[in-house]
Amino acid sequence: MTSNEIFDLLSARSPADIESLRTQAYQVMVDHVGSEVYFRGLVEFSNECIFDCSYCGIRKSNTAVERYCLSKDEIIETALWCARQGYGSIVLQSGQQSNREFIELIVGGVQQIKQRSRSSVLPHGLGITLSVGEQSKETYRRFFDAGAHRYLLRVETTAKELFEKFHGPEKTLQRRVTCLETMKKTGFQVGTGVMIGLPGQTLNDLANDILFFKDIDADMIGMGPYLVHHETPMNGYRDEIAERKNEIFQLSLNMIAATRIALKDVNIAATTALQTIDQKGREMGLMYGANVIMPQATPRHVRNKYLLYDGKPCVDESAADCAACLEQRIAATGRAIAWNSWGDPCHFFTRTGNQD
Ligand code: SAH
Repeated sequence: MTSNEIFDLLSARSPADIESLRTQAYQVMVDHVGSEVYFRGLVEFSNECIFDCSYCGIRKSNTAVERYCLSKDEIIETALWCARQGYGSIVLQSGQQSNREFIELIVGGVQQIKQRSRSSVLPHGLGITLSVGEQSKETYRRFFDAGAHRYLLRVETTAKELFEKFHGPEKTLQRRVTCLETMKKTGFQVGTGVMIGLPGQTLNDLANDILFFKDIDADMIGMGPYLVHHETPMNGYRDEIAERKNEIFQLSLNMIAATRIALKDVNIAATTALQTIDQKGREMGLMYGANVIMPQATPRHVRNKYLLYDGKPCVDESAADCAACLEQRIAATGRAIAWNSWGDPCHFFTRTGNQD
């Protein structure tokens, strides 16, 4: 697909054009990955971060955040709870750190989760996705050898000027891309994605983001609307973003649909940020071609400390309530949940020639 063709898909505005985009994307999803929805229990195990991304609520300069890091035992217990719920896969996510203690926590945690989550319904244990930022080649190798088999690292935006504007000198687009390539060589199923609706971001930028996903041959995509956090330097955009709320929400759905049409057999997540704008945001993501949902599994005593943006949903519900609520929401869309399944992206197997 060309940038112009993707641009046209993203431009859908009238109800008829939007519905036609949605049904096309839904059909591509059914044809290439089926209609089942895969769950990944989301464990936000630490909000400590060395980076200072200007959109993010847990950026290092935000001194109002109370920092936490779960112990290895807490992480393992949470993961095993996910396995008992039938989730099949988990995502371990945190702010960015690269010190020895942090790396060892992940390596040890992953090894034990893999061993202890094996059961008759999960003979190879939980599928583990990591989302812990930029690391060295050696560290990625250690994570992979410990048993994690997927890695998410959003590129945030592929528009260089925007990337630089919102990140400052210590974080570069080139380094992000190099990390994605290293992960792929290490053997990970690789996920990336962007934020949608960043101030100054154009439809053309978003079309190029999708072309980038294709070029880098990503297996998984996670995208969501940009939302303001009040204790960040981008709080000044609050009114502008509030005014564009509905437009950014529809654009996020159009991005899911256009990504599905362009990439076909990847996994695409309906992210929590969608639900912040609209109560039914994640279900709508599923209707536009997403096939993955990440139920909140972070222990409740720290959940309200992992606030990347204002208005995060489900901070007060217990993890069990979240599970039940999501199950009902998905049933309402007429889709089946694939319980106790890793739900690997089909694209990984076509890309690598491995058999499922
Ligand atoms: N430290 C990890 C995980 C980052 S948090 C890493 O570097 O990859 C996961 C994602 O949340 C980020 O990649 C970013 O795309 C998203 N995010 C952060 N702040 C946000 C905001 N204000 N609005 C919407 N999404 C945000």
